[in-house]
Amino acid sequence: MEGVVLRLIDYGESDQIARLFLRETGLLSAIAKGAKKSRHRFPHHLEPFRIYSFNLSKKPSHDLYWIQTADQVTSFEEIMKDIRKIALGHLMMELVLKGVREGSPQRDLYTLLISLFKYLDASQDILGLWFYSEIHILRLLGFLPNFSICQQCKHPLVKEELNCFDPVSGGLICPRCQKSAPKKGTVLTPEALGVLQFLSKASLSSVVRLRISDKSWETIADYLTEFITYHLERPLQSISFLKEVIHL
Ligand SMILES: [Zn+2]
Repeated sequence: MEGVVLRLIDYGESDQIARLFLRETGLLSAIAKGAKKSRHRFPHHLEPFRIYSFNLSKKPSHDLYWIQTADQVTSFEEIMKDIRKIALGHLMMELVLKGVREGSPQRDLYTLLISLFKYLDASQDILGLWFYSEIHILRLLGFLPNFSICQQCKHPLVKEELNCFDPVSGGLICPRCQKSAPKKGTVLTPEALGVLQFLSKASLSSVVRLRISDKSWETIADYLTEFITYHLERPLQSISFLKEVIHL
């Protein structure tokens, strides 16, 4: 079974418990007995940013799968050399972990995650990839942000105006509806909204060449953070670390 490791916890002296994301069956938890010692069954360490071929088994009375063997198929070595790439990769994985239920197949999401790892491995400028990954993982989880219509009056948003996130409806509202809104979220500048509209329709290959001004990237990051927290009903822990290291 092909898949990746999204999270890993050491268990005792030689075992590990892994949250795996598999191409065919989606998210599941598995114990790797002897993963830190047996080089025969685990010729490579279990780590994120690698694709493995897993041999899994399950006892009928147990909830947990057992990883019998794990052979590495591909590794994304360039991600592991760059703290910014590691931080963004962890954000991608956290979104999948928080948005997907165990036991439901997510083949499109698996394919997207592997493509995102490939571009992350090869790219130097990762801002566009950051926001693209948030928008499109959310889309496949069923929470595609709407960048074209005001969530209150349902009129088309005018890009030249200052539209803002509405913490009540979870979408964007126009300046006229903002007057009656009890709370206001991040205000999107025309440039920030234009970037988001572009990213929601763009292909992954065009995103890595996208340049985003210093003024806009923090606005976009704040808006998407509010959107994710609203729809997943909890914040992502990896975002603050990514914001800290992004310009190192
Ligand atoms: Zn409106």
